[in-house]
Amino acid sequence: MIKAIGHKNVRLTHDKTIEFTTDTDLTPKGTCIAGLCAQFDVSALRRLVGEVVSYIKIDKEVFEIKGKINPDFSSEDKVIFRRSDVCDAATLLINCDKLAADMPRTMVDKLTNGADVEVTFDMQGSQVPVQRQSAPYTNGGLYLVGVPIGNDKDLTPQAKELLETADVIAAEDTRRAKALFQRLGLDTMQAKLIAHHEHNERASSNGIKEFLAKGQKVVLISDAGMPGISDPGYVLATEVIPENVPVVPVSGPNAALLALVASGLPTDQFSFIGFLPRAKGAKTAKLKEVGQRQDTLIFYEAPHRILETLEAIQETLGDRQACLARELTKVHEEFLRGSLSAIYQALSQRDKILGEIALVVEGAEETDVAEEALDDEIKALLAEGKRAKEVRDLLAEKYGLPKKEIYAKVLEFKE
Ligand code: SAM
Repeated sequence: MIKAIGHKNVRLTHDKTIEFTTDTDLTPKGTCIAGLCAQFDVSALRRLVGEVVSYIKIDKEVFEIKGKINPDFSSEDKVIFRRSDVCDAATLLINCDKLAADMPRTMVDKLTNGADVEVTFDMQGSQVPVQRQSAPYTNGGLYLVGVPIGNDKDLTPQAKELLETADVIAAEDTRRAKALFQRLGLDTMQAKLIAHHEHNERASSNGIKEFLAKGQKVVLISDAGMPGISDPGYVLATEVIPENVPVVPVSGPNAALLALVASGLPTDQFSFIGFLPRAKGAKTAKLKEVGQRQDTLIFYEAPHRILETLEAIQETLGDRQACLARELTKVHEEFLRGSLSAIYQALSQRDKILGEIALVVEGAEETDVAEEALDDEIKALLAEGKRAKEVRDLLAEKYGLPKKEIYAKVLEFKE
């Protein structure tokens, strides 16, 4: 993981540190320098965690140092091992058990003759079952960059800089991407522009993985908003994370969150549902499933299907409070707040419904959930073959509810 070479001035008498440096010369005599012209992959070193053993190999001899990884290591020009836990960004190992002065003299002699040094690491039993990724990212990665959903001013300076310095830009629609770059005056000429959309997601992911394996900076953008949210991004992210490729989010607008925060509905707990299935049965089933949640629900819908969807939601979830957010961040931005039926009525009076729509719907009330659970339980007990009075007695006791109330329900389901 670290390759370096010795030097005639190497002394290794330092008893508090040992160091590998990218410097090409060593003057005056280095008391802690064990290798010059060091080559290492900072990202790979940053993936080490916990207690490690480092093996410093010179010729056939190996010198072991045990220590603990400093999670803030990020140096490009040197790697230091220290006896103490005092850290800077160049310190990779702290609390080391051995250091420069402990290295066998036979190895030091080889270094003074300019021998090659190779340092490898073993996380041994200290490997934790989490994969750690942390900034700064210096050797490429997959950048999921948010782009405007209507207002070009929403492209952040950070997103602009990444687009202008990317090796590869993977765009949902390359023509739309080019138009965006042109409108914003972005200089993306150095980047290779490739298509990455719903229909070629798997195949193009393979190509993108090759760029990433070479340490290139790949920027993924969708037509609008955040990649991965009802847009490509998820498949690629899941494929490259196991390869330890940094997957970096770069903020941009997202229609769901903008609609939610301005909806006037609770923002403390919410579920993003996105587009509902088109087929009626699947749509109803999905609505039944999400309708039990007390979370505020966020849907995406196309303008030509919104009336049908409003109707379906009202039919399955009841006439809840909602907010329809249309053309967010654009000149004709509009919010319709009220009950689902009132929004339906207001929209159905229009000649044409245009623009992009995000719909926010209030979550289930606690009592709705309890009632649904009770209904399901009655149905299940009846299906098991229990008699109406048995079901009444069982559930009245379980929920402390009046027998009469439960019996009325039981009879309803029995019919
Ligand atoms: N990735 C995007 C995001 O982060 O919001 C969503 C892309 S999805 C393919 C497109 C849907 O998002 C639209 O059909 C609409 O439901 C919603 N949407 C996108 N832009 C919008 C806007 N300006 N106003 C309201 N909804 C919008």
